[in-house]
Amino acid sequence: MDQTATLSNQDHQKLDNFFKSCLHFQHRNIGYPVAADFNYSELFKFLQFSLNNCGDWAQESNNPLNTFRFEKEVMEYFSDKFGTCLSESWGYVTNGGTEGNMYCCLLAREKFPQGTLYYSEDSHYSVDKIVKLLRIKHKVIKSLPNGEINYDELKFEILINKESNPIIFANIGTTLYGATDDIAKIQTILSELNFKKNEFYLHADAALNGMILPFVDQPQPYNFSDGIDSISVSGHKMIGGPIPCGIVLAKAKNVESITNEVDYIAAPDKTISGSRNGFTPLVLWHAINSTSEAQKRARVQGCLNLAKELTTLLIKKGIPAWRNCNSIIVVFPTPSESIWRKYGLANSKKHAHVVVTGHMIENPSLLYQLAEDMAKDIVNQRKNEAKNEATHC
Ligand SMILES: *Cc1c(COP(=O)(O)O)cnc(C)c1O
Repeated sequence: MDQTATLSNQDHQKLDNFFKSCLHFQHRNIGYPVAADFNYSELFKFLQFSLNNCGDWAQESNNPLNTFRFEKEVMEYFSDKFGTCLSESWGYVTNGGTEGNMYCCLLAREKFPQGTLYYSEDSHYSVDKIVKLLRIKHKVIKSLPNGEINYDELKFEILINKESNPIIFANIGTTLYGATDDIAKIQTILSELNFKKNEFYLHADAALNGMILPFVDQPQPYNFSDGIDSISVSGHKMIGGPIPCGIVLAKAKNVESITNEVDYIAAPDKTISGSRNGFTPLVLWHAINSTSEAQKRARVQGCLNLAKELTTLLIKKGIPAWRNCNSIIVVFPTPSESIWRKYGLANSKKHAHVVVTGHMIENPSLLYQLAEDMAKDIVNQRKNEAKNEATHC
């Protein structure tokens, strides 16, 4: 039965209205780290199939409607980008950065059941949920003003808890400030405290910056050749896509410890979900193969240059904007409510930010418009402050 044929006119109208609203907002989401410059129309025809990647892509499956061969190529691409290879590491296409982070925390906990997970207060909110779900002993560490973890406090906390193996949850680009924890410094701290390489676990949460750092001239240390044990990246953020997704990659020997043989799916189960999305591996595969590495680099550089330009422009207009090294997130003091509402800006305590993603390179007008509005806003704020002072006396 063709189920769409049964929709009423009213319901068709509802969908049409929603479609128009999506078109309107697609390119206006400047506060969120999602690129909108993608075109996967070649893949639309696969939406008529119930694709399912249940199990491990490396195995034969008894379900022919899987995209394992594409998932394998996606993982080959990322393992190469992140300084490892598929004989030493294993990973899969996830539902997003959070699933990847959870997967790696599970690997770490299995390796060190009595270990303690250290993460900074600027880490993604899902880490609180993950340590609860997995019941991992943990310690939240204060951040430096730019969003990096406070290394002195980290060292102190590891020192007073030396009996427990450290599990480091490092941010490779925090959500709000785009700050990257210095994993070289963290490794030095661990070695100063006499922890050997096999006595701690180092995870990289590279949700956004995982697809930036491979394309810059001077990346901060973040990958397997820099000593990490695992990495999680979101697919719908920097790359962009219609369905949330991501990839996770971890050292193969740590994955073996959690693998279950499942008789009736005829594939070893190493993943968190049972049924897995078979469409998103096609999306990532398409994104990887439809542009050259030089084009990917140019796109990342375009975002970074535009972020730099916006920061300079805001500073010129009297707004103390800033950004972290190799980050596409421009941070500034939270403007008036009318502005953050108009532009849908996410704001925290004191700061709001704009994330400069791929689709803005060709059409940065919204960013310039925001800068104009913020310049007027700061003048008004100053006037109001002056008025308030006047009424005080
Ligand atoms: C977005 C984000 C996540 C979560 O990723 P999802 O794909 O939304 O699950 C984790 N960590 C950081 C730093 C993020 O920015």
